[in-house]
Amino acid sequence: MMSKTIYAYFNKEIVPLADAKISILTHAFNYGTACFEGIRGYWNPDHQQLYLFRMKEHYERMAGSTRILMMQLPGSVDELCTITRELVKRNEFQEDVYLRPTCYISSEVIGVRLHGLESAFCLYSLPFGNYIDIDRGLKVGVSSWKRLDDNMLPARSKIAGAYVNSAFAKSEALLNGYDEAIMLTSDGHVSEGSAENLFMLSGGKLITPPVTENLLVGITRHTIMTIARDELGLEIVERLIDRTELYISDELFLCGTGAQIAPVAEIDHRPVGNGQIGPITARLQQLYFDLVRGKIEKYREWCTPVY
Ligand code: PMP
Repeated sequence: MMSKTIYAYFNKEIVPLADAKISILTHAFNYGTACFEGIRGYWNPDHQQLYLFRMKEHYERMAGSTRILMMQLPGSVDELCTITRELVKRNEFQEDVYLRPTCYISSEVIGVRLHGLESAFCLYSLPFGNYIDIDRGLKVGVSSWKRLDDNMLPARSKIAGAYVNSAFAKSEALLNGYDEAIMLTSDGHVSEGSAENLFMLSGGKLITPPVTENLLVGITRHTIMTIARDELGLEIVERLIDRTELYISDELFLCGTGAQIAPVAEIDHRPVGNGQIGPITARLQQLYFDLVRGKIEKYREWCTPVY
């Protein structure tokens, strides 16, 4: 049986994924000098439509990532959105997908620097399910690895090389029997998960660390702040969070494009709340999944139809 060809966007054209290859001399391969995005597409069988969730915001964030890296976005945000839709359309996906656009320093030179080098853009899209479990509460552990500081390797820019910091934390967590890691900043405040932002519910308020806590400013984070405030009437607070505040929180969850909304049931061997998925987290999950599949008219502008 022939398997279907999957296409990618590489060197300014749509090519079979198998042909999208870079040289081992590529600067980004040697030094991690690339930035990327992760975008989800959600299939709605009733609408026979695939919705790309907040694609524009992802490319706007990528524009910021490239500025920090002294690279240039290869086109306008609108042009990248068009390329992305075309690629997904070409793949004829009728299922949930994950998209991975990357801007990378493509020069084939030896030498560590950012300036005066060539950059390129590539994009692939693949069918994709859950990244981590969202149906049972996760067991998480505070990592012994600290989150990178803005003056070391800015988390605000989604830099490929910086994900080694996340990989240290994630492997440590998994090998220690946890599902995910919570990373602290160098001065000991809660930052984020290995690839997720974090929210805790305490005293009826939804609390999350401010954007200056060495975290990626998540698009899901913004989505959750919006729906928690506008649909559930919750007060949102951005402030520093101590590690032990997580231990006594009423609810705790991680969020991100990949993770979606992932409830936490246990942190450092202590149950969160009663150790079950909390009611606010469950309502946010329900709202989120309706929203990303284009089922809530009010938020349809966040959902770009592919077909
Ligand atoms: N933090 C990190 C380190 C991440 O990799 C991600 C995933 N992109 C997030 C947070 C969540 O960001 P978003 O909601 O925009 O996917």
